[in-house]
Amino acid sequence: MTTKPIRERLLAEMRQWQVIDCHEHLPEESERISNPVDALTLFSHYTHNDLINAGLSREDYDRTQDHSLPLAERWALVRPYWERVRFTGYSRPILLAVRRFYGCDDLNDDTYEAISERMQAANTPGLYHRVLREACNIRLCLTQIGRIPTADQELLVPLLPAHEFISARTPEAVAQQADEAGGRVASLDDYTDVVRQRLRRAKAQGVVGLKMAANPHTVPPQEEVSAAFGLMLQGREYDAGLLADGLLNELLELAADEELVVAVHCGLIWTNWQDFSQLHPRHMIPLLMAHRRTRFDLYHAGLPWMRETGAIGKSFPNVWLNLCWTHIMAPAMTVSALNEWLDMVPYTKILGFGGDYAKPVEKVYGHLQMALEGIATVLAGRVEDGWMTEDQALRVAHAWLWDNPVELYRLDV
Ligand SMILES: [Zn+2]
Repeated sequence: MTTKPIRERLLAEMRQWQVIDCHEHLPEESERISNPVDALTLFSHYTHNDLINAGLSREDYDRTQDHSLPLAERWALVRPYWERVRFTGYSRPILLAVRRFYGCDDLNDDTYEAISERMQAANTPGLYHRVLREACNIRLCLTQIGRIPTADQELLVPLLPAHEFISARTPEAVAQQADEAGGRVASLDDYTDVVRQRLRRAKAQGVVGLKMAANPHTVPPQEEVSAAFGLMLQGREYDAGLLADGLLNELLELAADEELVVAVHCGLIWTNWQDFSQLHPRHMIPLLMAHRRTRFDLYHAGLPWMRETGAIGKSFPNVWLNLCWTHIMAPAMTVSALNEWLDMVPYTKILGFGGDYAKPVEKVYGHLQMALEGIATVLAGRVEDGWMTEDQALRVAHAWLWDNPVELYRLDV
């Protein structure tokens, strides 16, 4: 036994592990390296929301990402606002990334040019491997880019938008989906078969789940859904809201049949000026109750409704709780929520990390470090308080970072 504090020992152990990254928007590496990058690229994906919140105009932010303008001019636009947001959770992954990858302790007047040169020099084939595999030790990233990646499949495992499977709202669109699936549609039952075939085809191509959002949804009676679908097929007027909810409910049952996980965006929205109350996790309760065989992965701890999300996780055996994005949105709230969830929810139902980035892949590293720190803080407290041994704490951490996502998504690792 060394004399290091418990938290440091847990962290040192966890940093050796392979992990599953439970949510990204990473496209194929070729998309990232075919575009120019510089230090200001690091503000994309979330930190720019804090910059705009601090007073930067959207137009000036867009200028900072325009590589036809001189770097110094663009840096001058963002610099005063960077000083105002440099201590937020969204900003810390930038600082951790420039230290790890670009040899600079800070992003400031003295370093932005050097960081920009080094980033561009590293923007070459193998970037994903160097960042995600070598620095992060990530085995797989569950990614959402609205389609199945055409490369890097050994690293990128897709989820697809749920609504795309049930989007047909004209007889022609239904017929087209039916043709593609090799069937004919004269009723809702026929359409359900078409959707099932399309889900099977997606799964055969590596898709492991569907993504939806926690907007309010109803569970309409089957006869009413069938009737609305029939009217739509005849090109007559129908209740669009009822049909949309009805088809979603059909899809949630099919997801259970086909062993696809349903991931759900809950809580805060990813840009400024959005009414995030529309995505309250409590909106999911009618669907959770109606579809007990379906596995739901509730994202982002439902932030800021982490306690309600914990209560949902406690009440419903078909719910998992996913901390993707959460460690950078609100690091201290995440530590607090994770600690409270340990009291309430089987530890096998929690997924510990998902970077939630697209272009600035370097920030996945910073986010992962923050996740490991938060997890170590919570579990070290539990060890100190006598709730678990250090070995048990490591077992829990390993479940959050590897076993639980592997089991929930049935990942082939
Ligand atoms: Zn996301």
